[in-house]
Amino acid sequence: MDNHHHHHDHPENDARYLGLTVNSGVNQPPVVNPYMKRRPRRRQLSAGELVEGILKGDVTMLSQAVTMIESLSPEHQSVAQEVIEKCLPYSGKSRRIGITGVPGAGKSTSIDVFGLHVLRGGGKLAVLAIDPSSERTKGSILGDKTRMERLSQHPSAFIRPSPSAGSLGGVARKTRETIVLCEAAGYNNIFVETVGVGQSETAVHSMVDFFLLIQLAGTGDELQGIKRGIMEMADGIVINKADGDNIGPAQLAQAQFRSALHLFPPTESGWQPEVLTYSGYYELAIPEVWDMVDRYFEFVNANGYFERRRLHQARYWMRETIDEQLRSHFYNNPEIAAMLAEKEMRVLSNRQSSFTAAREVLEAYFNEA
Ligand code: GDP
Repeated sequence: MDNHHHHHDHPENDARYLGLTVNSGVNQPPVVNPYMKRRPRRRQLSAGELVEGILKGDVTMLSQAVTMIESLSPEHQSVAQEVIEKCLPYSGKSRRIGITGVPGAGKSTSIDVFGLHVLRGGGKLAVLAIDPSSERTKGSILGDKTRMERLSQHPSAFIRPSPSAGSLGGVARKTRETIVLCEAAGYNNIFVETVGVGQSETAVHSMVDFFLLIQLAGTGDELQGIKRGIMEMADGIVINKADGDNIGPAQLAQAQFRSALHLFPPTESGWQPEVLTYSGYYELAIPEVWDMVDRYFEFVNANGYFERRRLHQARYWMRETIDEQLRSHFYNNPEIAAMLAEKEMRVLSNRQSSFTAAREVLEAYFNEA
C-alpha cells in the first residue's frame, strides 16, 4: 500500500483508482492532430515600428527593443542599432543617477524608496542595472522587479534587470544603449544600479551624471573596506540604516567619511561631495538625500559641467564601442581562435616566445582582412 514513492507509482495506480490503471509504454502517435500547425512566431517588428512605439511610451515596445539590444543575433543587433540611432535625437533629457553599494547595503530597499520619492514629483523612472556576474537564471539579479516591490507596481516605473553575463564592456554598453531608448520613451529619471565590487562602478560612473555610494556604518572598517577609487568617483555618500541603535554609529561613520573626503583633491565638477545618513527601510531622511541630488544638478547645470561630462562620456563610449567591436571581431574569427589555441600550446611548452606568437597571430589577422 505504502509504496507511494516508488518509481512505477502513478497516483492513479493506487488501489482506490482500480480500473483506471495507467499503463506506460503505449506508443503515442508523434502528432495528435496532423492538421494542427505550430503557432507561428510573432512577426519581427521593424526598427521603424519599434521607434514609433518607444516614442509613444509603449512599454512593451520598449522592452522588445531592449531585448534586441541584449540579443546576440546579428539580425537583432542590426535592428537594435537602427532603433538606437533613431532614438538618439529624443534622448539626453534626463537625470542619470548611478547607485552602488556592496550586497546588503540596502540598494534595492533604497531604490524602492528613492524611486517613489522621485515619482511623487511626477515624471517617469527607469531602473537599470549593470551586473557582469549575473545570468538571468541564477545568481544575483540586480534590477529584478521582486527586489523593488512598490516601485515595480508603479505605472511610471520601468525596471529592467542587468543584461546577462558577458564581458563587463559588453554588459555596460547594452545598459548605456538602453538608457537612450528609455529616454526616448520619456523616462526623465534613470537609475543605474551596480554591485559595489569590482570594476562595474567605473562603467556606471561613465554613463551617469551623479554617482551615489551607499555605505553602512558599524563594520569598523568603513574606510579601509572600500576602494579609494570608488570614493573618489562618488558625488554623494549616503550611510544607510541610520535607524534605532545604529544612529550613533552611522553619525560616526558620517564624520569619518567627511574628513576622509577632505583629503581628496578637488573634484573636476567643483562640487564638494556630501555625506549624509538615512534609513531606506524606515524611510528616514529620504527628502534630505534627494535635496542633495537636486542641489548637485543645479550646481553642475549652472557651471557647465553637466554638459561637459556628457560630452566626455559620449567620446568615451565611442572608444569603448570600438574597442569592444574590435575585440569581438578578432576573437570570434574561427581561424584566429584555432590559431590562438595552437600558439598558446607552443608558448606553454616553451617552443615559442609570447611575443613572436602574438605577432604571428596578429599578422594572420591583419593580412586576412
Ligand atoms: P542590497 O543587497 O544592497 O540590494 O540590499 P537590500 O535592499 O536587499 O537590503 C539588505 C538587507 O538590509 C535587507 O534585509 C533589508 O531589509 C535591510 N535594510 C535595508 N535598508 C535598511 C535600513 O534602512 N535599515 C535597516 N535596519 N535595515 C535595512
